[in-house]
Amino acid sequence: MLNYIPRQDIDGEQFTLLPVSISALQHYSYCPRQCALIHQEQQFSDNIHTARGHAVHAVVDIPESDIAKGIPVERALPIYSRQLGLVGKADVVEFRDKVPYPVEYKHGGRRAKIHDDIQLAAQAICLEEMLSISVSRGAIYYFRSRRRREVVIDDELRTLVYQTTLAIRNIMNSEDLPTAFNDARCNECSLYEICQPKALTAQSTIKQMIDDLYNPGDKNE
Ligand code: SF4
Repeated sequence: MLNYIPRQDIDGEQFTLLPVSISALQHYSYCPRQCALIHQEQQFSDNIHTARGHAVHAVVDIPESDIAKGIPVERALPIYSRQLGLVGKADVVEFRDKVPYPVEYKHGGRRAKIHDDIQLAAQAICLEEMLSISVSRGAIYYFRSRRRREVVIDDELRTLVYQTTLAIRNIMNSEDLPTAFNDARCNECSLYEICQPKALTAQSTIKQMIDDLYNPGDKNE
């Protein structure tokens, strides 16, 4: 069952593909199960990390046009790619010599995270399609340190955006949730209580033990 109503983009044209939220790419890259719980099951829960994220995004969540240090800036800009079926919002887009330069706001420390880079690359791809212009760079802005990390939107990142979008669309068309990991990333996940990764992985270990109990195995073992 599709639980996501196909929508129209901001020009009023219907998407031919089931739209995927750009934020889902970041969630999927962190954990496919987290992505499915949020975007397929509409489950969400806050923890200290998501609360900090909301606080940071409150700064850029109000749509407005501005000029900062001589550079035109758009905040909370709706973006889409009909070709990929992506929809979302760019925190900040600077227009340097009329070339868009997306800037995604994050609360954490200034270190490279592939899930943030994929999200930024998806924004760049949307801006390219909307404005018919090549976007080769963008940046992640870290609110805590007030510093940026520039990201080159290279072929590798673009391929990851395409592959991740397809994988998410498959999840959204499926009845099944991806399996739980129960590893270090779960400690920082706001969906820990909903997901119950420890109990789920224990269940699959017990099931394996029961299966093995009645499996005579190879005589030569
Ligand atoms: S608790 Fe772990 S397995 Fe479950 S959604 Fe979060 S990161 Fe994924």
